[in-house]
Amino acid sequence: MLKTMPDGEGLKYELKPCPFCGKDVAEFCRGSDLASEENFGSESDIVVVCSCWNGGCGAASGIYPTGYMAGDAWNKRAAYSVAEIRKALEQGC
Ligand SMILES: [Zn+2]
Repeated sequence: MLKTMPDGEGLKYELKPCPFCGKDVAEFCRGSDLASEENFGSESDIVVVCSCWNGGCGAASGIYPTGYMAGDAWNKRAAYSVAEIRKALEQGC
């Protein structure tokens, strides 16, 4: 389902159904919406979650610096390397 990314000025991204429960209710969230900033490091951190509020199972992509990375991680279940994440953070995306 097409979802709006919290960063990227309203750009949309196609999120695949959840690989665990099969429901098509994944949403982009900011880490700071889910827990305190101390736990997530930065309020710009973005995560895709299978929305509990819409009957999903709560599975998450992991926390990424950009909506594209979180969306890719959700769709491919293939994590970025630590080096790639550091590079994106240094670029301030
Ligand atoms: Zn799910």
